[in-house]
Amino acid sequence: MAPRGARGKPFRACRKCKSLIPKNAVRCPVCGSTDISDDWDGIVIVIDVEKSEIAKKLEITKPGRYAIKVR
Ligand SMILES: [Zn+2]
Repeated sequence: MAPRGARGKPFRACRKCKSLIPKNAVRCPVCGSTDISDDWDGIVIVIDVEKSEIAKKLEITKPGRYAIKVR
């Protein structure tokens, strides 16, 4: 298993909405927050918010790519 940490991850995660954003982004394109973390785990891709149980659980309201856990 790869070691934990920010190294090697192509994305950063927004602490506010859990959206995964490109590493060089300084602001979350989904919610506009600048509270962005390199320390996250798990990727979930939500296509249909209405039908996705995980989207409800994570309180995701827009389709996209999200982290399951953000620290
Ligand atoms: Zn966000």
